[in-house]
Amino acid sequence: MPAASVPAPTAPHSAAPATLVTNIGSLATNDPALGEGPLGLLADAAVVLDGDRVAWVGRAADAPAADAVHDAGGRAAVPGFVDSHSHLVFAGDRTEEFRARMSGRPYAAGGIRTTVAATRAAGDEQLHATVARHTAEALRQGTTVLETKSGYGLTVEDEARSLRVAAAHTDEVTYLGAHVVPPEYEDDPAGYVDLVTGPMLDACAPHARWVDVFCERGAFDGDQARAVLTAGAARGLVPRVHANQLHHGPGVQLAVELEAASADHCTHLTDADVDALANSRTVATLLPGAEFSTRSPYPDARRLLDAGATVALSTDCNPGSSYTSSMAFCIALAVREMRMTPDEALWSATAGGAAALRRTDVGRITPGARADLVLLDAPSHVHLAYRPGVPLVHGVWRAGRPV
Ligand SMILES: [Zn+2]
Repeated sequence: MPAASVPAPTAPHSAAPATLVTNIGSLATNDPALGEGPLGLLADAAVVLDGDRVAWVGRAADAPAADAVHDAGGRAAVPGFVDSHSHLVFAGDRTEEFRARMSGRPYAAGGIRTTVAATRAAGDEQLHATVARHTAEALRQGTTVLETKSGYGLTVEDEARSLRVAAAHTDEVTYLGAHVVPPEYEDDPAGYVDLVTGPMLDACAPHARWVDVFCERGAFDGDQARAVLTAGAARGLVPRVHANQLHHGPGVQLAVELEAASADHCTHLTDADVDALANSRTVATLLPGAEFSTRSPYPDARRLLDAGATVALSTDCNPGSSYTSSMAFCIALAVREMRMTPDEALWSATAGGAAALRRTDVGRITPGARADLVLLDAPSHVHLAYRPGVPLVHGVWRAGRPV
């Protein structure tokens, strides 16, 4: 065999030494084969992180040797949170809008335009700094995978720029040119859809994995949303939909019909919507930070779960309607306000988010998974809901590296 055809030796995935994290009081693996219940819970557990992967999971007493040992001190460990829905490429401040809303004014989709004006006026460095600051803030709180979107540019140049900025900080980037019709197209929404599905898509598709649309009164109707999603899909982008947030509407049915990865919000659902989600691959992603921040009724997670739908929890972090980056806060809301059990809420914030991003390498602590692990200053993951607002994250590893 000529030397040129001999395969090169496999490079190690990382120079990081193998680390044994041991004396974990309670470990949620999200693998029922590894432990008890859907969370695959293991007591007195240990995990070996090798390079960027999980190499071993089991009882601490059975753990193999490693280069380094980290004593978890009996704390609980959970997979890194997977936040599958955020809007971090923005500029400007909407504190006063929040203050006014909390003084009685209802939330309407048009508030997005305030952020659009500020984002267009911002320099690239400012946008990078904003995304970097929020992703770091999320990571410190245990979020190891974060999706983020464009949608505050709404011109060809500003949407493409938003996606380039997003892609510098995360792999999960979504083209949301169809967030709202910008003021300059107010009298010609069809012309704006032509832009979103034409020149804007051409400029944006290379920088994104997903295509999204805000299917809502005051934003885009069912036909417009279908045009946006099918055009994106034809360019290789996988659909996800802002669906049924403020009213009943066609968003969920469209998401299921187009095999979207996720229908996000799902606050106002008919029985047919619930049925459609339960019988599809489309994940129902619930964003209770939005209902909290707009004093709106919460989605009925119990109804979706009892029907058999896959449910994810995300922050919807954005400056207008849900300015939180805390997945722990969303878990607490889901348990208190949406009738999810603490176990279901943790699953949805980790494995559920991974499903909404069609990822199998994250959202679980199993051999071969990416080494994303969060240690809690608590004996159990239940404390995420039991102790709302308390900063319980003690330590985070992302891709095998301590944060
Ligand atoms: Zn959103």
